[in-house]
Amino acid sequence: MFAAEDLIRQISAKWGLQGRTVQSPVHADIALTRARAPARGEDQGYQVEVTPKGIAIRARHATGMFYGVQTLLRLIRQENDRPAVRSVIVTDWPDIPIRAVPYNTKHYQAKKDNVFNFIRTLASYKINMLIWEWEDKFAYKSHPEIGAPGAFTMEDMQEFTRFARKYHVEIVPLVQGLGHVSYILKHPQYRALREIPSNNWGFCPLREGTYDLMGDLIKEAAEATPGSRYIHIGCDETYMLGKGITCGCREKYESEGEYALRQVYINQVGEMVKKLKRLPIAWNGGYDPKEKVEPVEGLFVWGGEDPVRDRAALDHGYPLYIYDPNPGIEHLFLPYFYREDEKGPVRPHLEESYAVLTQASGSGIFKGMISTSWNCSGVHNQIWMLRYITAAAYSWNGKAPLLEEFVNTYFQDYYGPRGKDIRELFTILNKASYYYMSTFERKVWHWGEVGKTHLPDLPRDDMEFDPLWNTAYGDLVKRSHDLLPQMERALDICRENLGNGVEN
Ligand SMILES: [Zn+2]
Repeated sequence: MFAAEDLIRQISAKWGLQGRTVQSPVHADIALTRARAPARGEDQGYQVEVTPKGIAIRARHATGMFYGVQTLLRLIRQENDRPAVRSVIVTDWPDIPIRAVPYNTKHYQAKKDNVFNFIRTLASYKINMLIWEWEDKFAYKSHPEIGAPGAFTMEDMQEFTRFARKYHVEIVPLVQGLGHVSYILKHPQYRALREIPSNNWGFCPLREGTYDLMGDLIKEAAEATPGSRYIHIGCDETYMLGKGITCGCREKYESEGEYALRQVYINQVGEMVKKLKRLPIAWNGGYDPKEKVEPVEGLFVWGGEDPVRDRAALDHGYPLYIYDPNPGIEHLFLPYFYREDEKGPVRPHLEESYAVLTQASGSGIFKGMISTSWNCSGVHNQIWMLRYITAAAYSWNGKAPLLEEFVNTYFQDYYGPRGKDIRELFTILNKASYYYMSTFERKVWHWGEVGKTHLPDLPRDDMEFDPLWNTAYGDLVKRSHDLLPQMERALDICRENLGNGVEN
């Protein structure tokens, strides 16, 4: 059984303990059994019982058994120089059955090992869906010009998908459509499909060629992810929608509205997805009783903004997911513990996420939770993990623990028992990123604007003696002096943890 193999692998890697499987649970120190398994949580429910006599993990399905193993591993603590688990009974199942995080590789080509490790880590936190926005990092066979050099092949993607399934993670391809398609429309052969000729961001939803092309891409995305149930068709940030004049989009937009025009695309592509025996997920186009057009049957869409609409969507058979609020496009770091807008400090991201997710979990109306990331800002995937794992934890159980306790446990778990002062490091970098954003780089909405620099003018002569420069930038100079010791402290924390061989 895979759960047993994973348990043996992890206790050996983390604690140096050796294990082997035996067939009868009576002879095992840790028994994995279907007997007396809890009925809740369909295939994901489990029970972990630790007593002085031994340990039992009970689950009716392989997924629950795997999750029971992950919980047991988290219960192991170092006590008197050896690993120990205290007596406890945990009976557990998820509030929200699908817990999805993004894999956004549009700006870089990941190494295969990183993908495998990422999947393994997600699974250990009971995340069961990876929505992969690969853009040109997949070598489409039908349109070879789209894939970037070194892009993953069909065989690579199939291998990732099978690997992920072993860990109870479903890989869902995200094939963007109406917006975010510069990676396709920059190529001269697809120019005619642009909504407006001068801009490669969005497709025209009224041109047949759009669907010929998307049909090819979606078919390959399905082939690349054998056995997965869903395909995500994107459709957010559709800035170009309705701007085309000769194609008729402007006219349709003005007479029937934005929703109707967008739905032309969503419904056609949604139908293609369903012909491939997959279910469509989208960022937009949910059921709206005020609109004349109905979405493609079963479209999995965003809810949680309007209770009346949510009720209507569910009554019409459209499942809903809750969108874990995105921390935004703060540069260099994420606003986990501290956040500013133009006016000053506002509620930091983790508190916001906690508020939304605990409420959503308790509501019982959501089939899924989708967390996203905008790694256009250049923040590494490891730094996004706190966000993904927070989202997974509170969509699994919205009632406990309190945020403070969860965060402390996160740092212990993710960085291991040798990790030291990493929370302090996060807070320093979090705050310092606002200094960077207000000095060297403008904090702007990301579309087309990321990376624009805003360097202060250089002093005309020796900075120390330039009264004009010192007046104009006096505040920034003062702030930089305040910041220097904090940067030293950040470096010290990094050095110490690196020296101690702390992972991640
Ligand atoms: Zn058009």
